[in-house]
Amino acid sequence: MVMGKCAEVHKMSNFLSLAFASVILISVLILVNVQYGFLLFHSLAELVCVVVGIIMFIVACNTHTHIKNYFLLYLGIGYFWVSLLDLCHLLTYEGMPFLNISSTNVTLHFWIYARGFEAFLMLSAALFLNVKFNPTKVFVVTFVATALLLYLAIYQEQPIFFIDGQGLTLAKILSEYAIIATLMFAIILYWRAEDKIIAKLKFYLILSIMLTIVAELFFTQYVSVYGLSNQIGHVFKVLSFVVIFFAFVLTMLKDPFSLLTLTAHSYDAIPQPAIVVDHLGIIRQANQSAKSVFNIDLEDRTHFHFSSHDQKIDVVDCEICQHLQLGKAMSAKVFENTSNRTWQLISLTPIQPSNHETGFIQITVDVSKQIEEKRSFRLAGAIFDNLSEGILVTDENLRIVSINKAVTNITGYTKQDVLNKKPSIFASGRHDDAFYKAMWQQIHQTDQWQGEIWNRKKSGIEYPELLSIKVLRAESGEVSQYVSVFSDISQLKAVENKLRYQAHHDLLTDLPNRLMFKNHLEAAMKHCKRNQSKLALLFVDIDNFKSINDSLGHTVGDSVIISVSKHIKTILRDDDIIGRYGGDEFVILLENIESNDNLSYIAEKLINSLTQPIFYYENMPIFISISIGLCLFPDDANSVEQLIQYADSAMYKAKKAGKNHFVFHSSKDNDKAKRRLLLESRLREAIENNEIYIVYQPKINADTYQISGAEALVRWNNPVLGEVYPDEFIPLAESIGVIHKLGEFVLRQALVEVGKWRKISKRNLSVAVNFSSKQFIRGELDEVIKSALHASNLPSEALEVEITESLLLNKSKAVKTLLQSISASGVSIAIDDFGTGYSALSYLKNYPINVVKIDKSFIDGVDISNEDSILVKTIIVMAHGLGMSVVAEGVENKQQLAFFQNEQGDTVQGYYFSKPLLKGDFINTLQNWNVKIYRK
Ligand code: C2E
Ligand code: MG
Ligand code: MG
Repeated sequence: MVMGKCAEVHKMSNFLSLAFASVILISVLILVNVQYGFLLFHSLAELVCVVVGIIMFIVACNTHTHIKNYFLLYLGIGYFWVSLLDLCHLLTYEGMPFLNISSTNVTLHFWIYARGFEAFLMLSAALFLNVKFNPTKVFVVTFVATALLLYLAIYQEQPIFFIDGQGLTLAKILSEYAIIATLMFAIILYWRAEDKIIAKLKFYLILSIMLTIVAELFFTQYVSVYGLSNQIGHVFKVLSFVVIFFAFVLTMLKDPFSLLTLTAHSYDAIPQPAIVVDHLGIIRQANQSAKSVFNIDLEDRTHFHFSSHDQKIDVVDCEICQHLQLGKAMSAKVFENTSNRTWQLISLTPIQPSNHETGFIQITVDVSKQIEEKRSFRLAGAIFDNLSEGILVTDENLRIVSINKAVTNITGYTKQDVLNKKPSIFASGRHDDAFYKAMWQQIHQTDQWQGEIWNRKKSGIEYPELLSIKVLRAESGEVSQYVSVFSDISQLKAVENKLRYQAHHDLLTDLPNRLMFKNHLEAAMKHCKRNQSKLALLFVDIDNFKSINDSLGHTVGDSVIISVSKHIKTILRDDDIIGRYGGDEFVILLENIESNDNLSYIAEKLINSLTQPIFYYENMPIFISISIGLCLFPDDANSVEQLIQYADSAMYKAKKAGKNHFVFHSSKDNDKAKRRLLLESRLREAIENNEIYIVYQPKINADTYQISGAEALVRWNNPVLGEVYPDEFIPLAESIGVIHKLGEFVLRQALVEVGKWRKISKRNLSVAVNFSSKQFIRGELDEVIKSALHASNLPSEALEVEITESLLLNKSKAVKTLLQSISASGVSIAIDDFGTGYSALSYLKNYPINVVKIDKSFIDGVDISNEDSILVKTIIVMAHGLGMSVVAEGVENKQQLAFFQNEQGDTVQGYYFSKPLLKGDFINTLQNWNVKIYRK
């Protein structure tokens, strides 16, 4: 708005100055006319026009190199020739004393040619606005045209334009109208020129042409050359020239000067210090910024070195000054100014590259801040690359954009490997989705996460790292980057694990220490509670250890402890836990204890294993013995501390009882253990002492009620212990290794009896003999059976081998081979207590099984439990389907028998028919067997 108003005021003042100048000039002319007559008035008026035309030519030529306005140059050249024609008109005017060709008609010819030339000039200029041309060529062409016109006017016959006393002829008037028409046409062209011509110039041009037209109209009117019309016409002609001159001055002189002034202000407006120096380095000009920054006073004629260069450097050594001296330009270069600790970007440019004497411009830009930033960036870069922690940066879409060297060192992945990929390429697969979900949830909530994570190196090795992730946000709040910093903590973990191991293990024996053992015990107790199983704690103490220590020294003592710990391990199962409780005390945790017998067997085994020396001192055997205290969970105690305390005090009892001994915490268990010890010691000689005998329980055909054979069941009658049942002494026989002897004894005895039965009954009766799984371990059972059959001289059908499912459980190939060999010899094989184990019937088909004996517990339930009856039914159907016969064990009543018969069972055994009988009783029963009793 303000700018617009300023321009308006400017325009107004231009116009007023023009009007003022015009009024003065016209007043002077009128005054001359009135005072000195028309001729002087005419001469002055024309002279003004001639001078104006020549000045326009001079101005146009001299300013053209700077302002390059071809339009005005064209007019300038044209007006030069118009001036020449006007000069001829002036000089030949009637009453002028200079030329002898002076006559009104010649004068008017010059006049008409001058105006015609001018009108043509205006029109052609309007047609060729903004057209470039060769000024010399135009000058020559217009010169030729002017010369031609002069020649025509002077030497050629011309139409009469004026007749004295009559005034202007038609030719003159028509010529004037033709000129007016041309000028009007020019006005139209300028009017429509729009943007091709600046508004100001357009205005004055049109004004000038209009004034010319007015002048021309007056020139069609006069009768006397001194008449009023002629005088007014000349006034308007002068006015039109003044106006066009004014337009020239305005556009070719005033405006460029205004622009120049503006440029000078622009120079000051440059925020960077700019100074102009001459070829000697003296400051000639300085913009405002240079003046204030370098404190320059142009009057002082300071050398530019002392204003803006490093003052610690001499002028002769100053690189910038040297450039000036050599007259060489210097492209922008950064210099450190050590005197004020700043950084400047300085350039030195010659004002005229061809002439260095014109001086140079020095531009100085303070780049200290940028240099500092660059330095800190470089520092950050150096830190980034030299940090031992891996730094990984991703964009907002989690695409990796940058990693430092440490990432490559840690993971083996190079920049090229990971750029633009997602960090999931490091994933080890150890963490589940829930882990990552929780991690991202925290990142979204708090913008950061820290924790341990397992990742995978390029080589495939997994490693733990301590990772912290931070979210970087833009000013708008949008996520811009994620930065992860991590370190490989494998070594730390290893140390940590070692420390943890050491905290939980005994340094001497490498066994779990008291703390660790208690943890195990606690966990095992919980496990027992869940599974309703039992565990045992053994407290072991080396007997007379103090005397070993005292006599042989602590080092030997330590070695003894190590040897004992190793030895105990060899006796125990792999999953039994042994710990060092302190000094010469060890604690042992045994899980899944089925019976106390087992337990006392283990304790005994530990004690007995030390009868052979395990440690030698200087080739001398050192005999070591141990005392053991045992207690059971949950039978004896409910807490870790109590269990340990009870086992410990039981161990003391063992010591008191003479050492090399084991004692149970509970007196009941101790009684059992004592009985077991007794049984064990007696069982070894039981066969030799004829304490073992066999009873036979008849097996009845469910269909015919005939006795088909019997099961041999072993018994032990000891004078001290009384009658002992196989459930008690068979496991003992197994554990002390007399089962083979016992088993063979039963087999041979049973075969002797079945031989008798066959003779008496004259039927092919058979005897079923129970075999323990342990009997299969030796691997020669088939041979034992064959030789027994051979000795008894009986066919193999006379024998049935009873085995339990547990034998088949471990899928031993050797067992299968043995069974196949037995079966191949014609002996039938029965699965005893079927249903209590784990094997499915279909599984049995992999073995040569002929008979399935359904366990008593299922038979017990057939008349009361729907489940049991369904199970028995299914077993019968499936066994038959597999070609096996079915025996019902422990049938005690008629209902059970009826059910079994109804389901097509084959053989029945149980108290309903008979209890196991002594061999004589069995023969009696066989002889007196009456099927009719049962058929009823
Ligand atoms: P088993 O082979 O299942 O023998 C059947 C057991 O059930 C026998 O007990 C028998 O007396 C008993 N029994 C039979 N019918 C009935 C009945 O109607 N009601 C009741 N309540 N019980 C009945 P026993 O003789 O005490 O034998 C127990 C286990 O000892 C046998 O179970 C067998 O596994 C084992 N056994 C017996 N003799 C020997 C043998 O010579 N060698 C081996 N290795 N084990 C034997
Ligand atoms: Mg049996
Ligand atoms: Mg049985």
